[in-house]
Amino acid sequence: MNVPTTTVPQADPGAAYRAHKAEIDAAVARALASGWYILGQEGAAFETEYAAWLSAGDAPAMHAVGCANGTDAIALILRGMGIGEGCTVATVSHTAVATVSAIEMAGATPLLLDIDPDTYCMDPDELRAVLDTPPPGLPPIRAVIPVHIYGHACDLDAMLPACREAGVKVIEDVAQAHGGRLNGRMLGTIGDAAAFSLYPTKNLAAMGDAGITATPDEALAKRMGAIRQYGWHRRYISDEVGVNTRLDELQAAILRVRLPLLDAGNARRREIAARYDEALAEGPFAPPYRAPGVEHVFHQYVIRVPKREEVMARLKMEGVATAIHYPVPVHEQAAYAGRTPVGPAGCAETSRAATEVMSLPIFPELTDAQVDRVCAALRGL
Ligand SMILES: *Cc1c(COP(=O)(O)O)cnc(C)c1O
Repeated sequence: MNVPTTTVPQADPGAAYRAHKAEIDAAVARALASGWYILGQEGAAFETEYAAWLSAGDAPAMHAVGCANGTDAIALILRGMGIGEGCTVATVSHTAVATVSAIEMAGATPLLLDIDPDTYCMDPDELRAVLDTPPPGLPPIRAVIPVHIYGHACDLDAMLPACREAGVKVIEDVAQAHGGRLNGRMLGTIGDAAAFSLYPTKNLAAMGDAGITATPDEALAKRMGAIRQYGWHRRYISDEVGVNTRLDELQAAILRVRLPLLDAGNARRREIAARYDEALAEGPFAPPYRAPGVEHVFHQYVIRVPKREEVMARLKMEGVATAIHYPVPVHEQAAYAGRTPVGPAGCAETSRAATEVMSLPIFPELTDAQVDRVCAALRGL
């Protein structure tokens, strides 16, 4: 058998560094030389540039507040909105555990809803059902966190009217969908606030931990800016209770190099996705669904594969790495099972997806030769 000697990786943060090494090295050197390492000029400039990038076109004018990671970004928004103990926050079980972890960090109770099996995003019908008839025994639902999973937008047009009517805040989890759009609108500018992770494999990536929040509500942004640093509205003066979740200057300097590259990176991800679509066209596995009006940014390219272990092993033999996002839904994890409420659908589609989903290699630095190799392997399935 002709086993390839190199493997096409599923993700490769090192390739992203090598592709822009000189600019990143210069930005890091500048931050180091400045003598100021946390919440300084680089961080402030990145916040301004990120808010401007989000606000392009006819989006509302956004305010961005950086923090230490994407999990903290969600918790910071909840704290800024005064949502914590005595509140329920609805989200999905088909997500990074981080989304649910953040809700509990803020002191609120998570309620885990099921997904639409085509988009893998929160099922708007079940959301409407729990807003109409809240599950008994739970504190009132104060916020909803739809997750734009894999880079595909949630059906916010179906969710927002019900949330507005119920007086429930909408916090977009955009950790996997920087630059994605829904009916022309930038994700993260549609709800009341948005949280972005800048983890090293995300579409916009730091080289360490980083996160950022965004909101059109200036007062909320101001409050989050204080809560992220001990509740200081003025230096050393805590007018309210805060935490420590600051963005560091090295990460901000790197992110300033990468923000202008993000749209091209997303375009390259879409180009690779189109190649995979073609390769899958004749075979047994359907390419990922795109709902009308959604501009997908392919943080992951995910297909459903019933005999997953076998297919992953065959692709590995062909030199193609794959991954599973995510193998165990949050409501089935030992830390959450049995104590975390789920919606009336019992997360049945979530459980089924977890046994079938498989992620192919996708990141902007994949070479055409690597993409060809993945396509050839897919044609052989
Ligand atoms: C990555 C991720 C997070 C958390 O981000 P961290 O920066 O790792 O804390 C939250 N939600 C989703 C959907 C993610 O993919």
